[in-house]
Amino acid sequence: MHDDHCIFCKIITGKIPSKKVYEDEEIFAFHDIAPWAPVHFLLVPKTHIPSMAHVGPEHVGLLGRMMTLAPKLALENGCRPYPQGGFRIVANTGAEGGQEVQHLHVHVMGGPRPWLRG
Ligand code: 5GP
Ligand code: ZN
Repeated sequence: MHDDHCIFCKIITGKIPSKKVYEDEEIFAFHDIAPWAPVHFLLVPKTHIPSMAHVGPEHVGLLGRMMTLAPKLALENGCRPYPQGGFRIVANTGAEGGQEVQHLHVHVMGGPRPWLRG
């Protein structure tokens, strides 16, 4: 379920501190340590799935819950409402996809522009 060498597994289990945004039985969310935007948090499954390249039919429910949670958490954490506001959802996957941490995560970014990046 957890990978002892994975930084996000250590965040989920509290071995590495983080600024928590949300937690339930299967999902954890925390602020990115190096935000690109005024609002920038990460949504992760508690179970260690390395990337979006590793998901299958058994993850349909989990991914559906993550994606439907994202807009709610975005608004609760400072993103302004659609359509003037909004947010960006990104899931970097693999080396060419720019993935640095090998535990599936969804970036949620938003807030007034300009942003630092993106
Ligand atoms: P990736 O490039 O894999 O899509 O994104 C990994 C993200 O994790 C980066 O935006 C990076 O800032 C964030 N990150 C890496 N290590 C930590 C950490 O220890 N704590 C937190 N809160 N974020 C981290
Ligand atoms: Zn992990």
